[in-house]
Amino acid sequence: MIPATGSQFPNIKNVPRYVFGSGSRHSLGAMVDARRAASGKPAAVFLIDEFFSADGDLPKALGVKDGDAVRYVDVAEEPTTEAVDALLEDLRAAGITEPAAIVGVGGGTTLDTAKAVANLFTNPGRAENYQGWDLVKNPGVYKIGVPTISGTGAESSRTCVMTNHRTGLKLGMNSDYTIYDQLILDPDLSSTVSRNQYFYTGMDAYIHCVESLAGRYRNPIGDAFSGTVLNLCREVFFGDDMMSQSGREHLMVASYLGGCALATSFVGLVHPLSAGLSVVLGLHHGVANCITLNALPEFYPEAHAEFRKFIDKQGVSIPERVCADLPEEKLVEMFEAATLHEKPLTNALGPEFRQTLTRERVVGIYRRM
Ligand code: NAD
Ligand code: ZN
Repeated sequence: MIPATGSQFPNIKNVPRYVFGSGSRHSLGAMVDARRAASGKPAAVFLIDEFFSADGDLPKALGVKDGDAVRYVDVAEEPTTEAVDALLEDLRAAGITEPAAIVGVGGGTTLDTAKAVANLFTNPGRAENYQGWDLVKNPGVYKIGVPTISGTGAESSRTCVMTNHRTGLKLGMNSDYTIYDQLILDPDLSSTVSRNQYFYTGMDAYIHCVESLAGRYRNPIGDAFSGTVLNLCREVFFGDDMMSQSGREHLMVASYLGGCALATSFVGLVHPLSAGLSVVLGLHHGVANCITLNALPEFYPEAHAEFRKFIDKQGVSIPERVCADLPEEKLVEMFEAATLHEKPLTNALGPEFRQTLTRERVVGIYRRM
């Protein structure tokens, strides 16, 4: 076993507190107020997925008070270092120097944005300075995560994925300080997600754990989390309706545990190839993962077959022919973007992964997507 974080015995941190259950979102206001009292700072920042901007009553229901800052996060593009820097600047310009708490309400995009902004309030410089491992030196602002869609595990992981358009790097601030201080896991919140999106994001948890369990860097705790996540995903996606109350509850648990699994293990082949699609075509993470797994029966035969059964059972659709008509040079660009991800590829195929993943073979895989 090679430990995920590089030291012999990585000292794993998890989210210290969470509330779980239908209606638990109503505890948010009191939690934020407790932070206002404890910190002596009156203002809180609420970063909310823009889907909810149509609900004018929501801020009050979440406990927003006069003097707080509410920003709706544009989710058309997944987080970038530039967008995170701009948001921080905007909040500072609005007079928020260090808030009592930062609340992220949304999917992986919004949860990761809130994590990054919370770290940058207390650490000098720009988001890109902290892309990497353990570069954040000061604890961030206290942060509360409220996921509204399940699957990425962003609520419980120690990173916040950001694309840096200047350097072409898609990498997070991997740090114990990136972990949420408090989560509110209320499955009611995911009832409004579209079925396809619910499936794409949900599959992120499934795929993370398939990749971890098929990898070379295994460890018993990561395996236990991953095995449980796969069983929960089977319950949800073989169930009559993946979006029933119990389906949404189970997927929320799977997502949370999947994020814990990520702290102790690596992904494999799907994520790097999916990143190639995201970098070159701008496809979002969840759908790009599904397109990728759909094209990888030769590497993950059992998971691929199960995934196809999930699709049939739930009547969702995966985009097809997204690469079929692309010129060769775009596919080569994707190959290059994908093979930058050495850690997961080594986890999947060993240090000689380039012998298996030749340019010709990877271009052929992309052509099938
Ligand atoms: P997302 O946050 O981009 O949201 C996807 C879509 O769902 C958006 O259109 C959003 O508006 C909508 N949505 C969210 N909640 C909704 C609701 N309740 N009702 C209706 N619509 C809703 O998607 P995601 O798949 O959750 O997150 C993807 C991001 O997460 C990527 O940037 C990826 O890199 C990141 N990620 C992070 C980690 C981590 O450990 N930090 C792990 C995996 C992925
Ligand atoms: Zn993922």
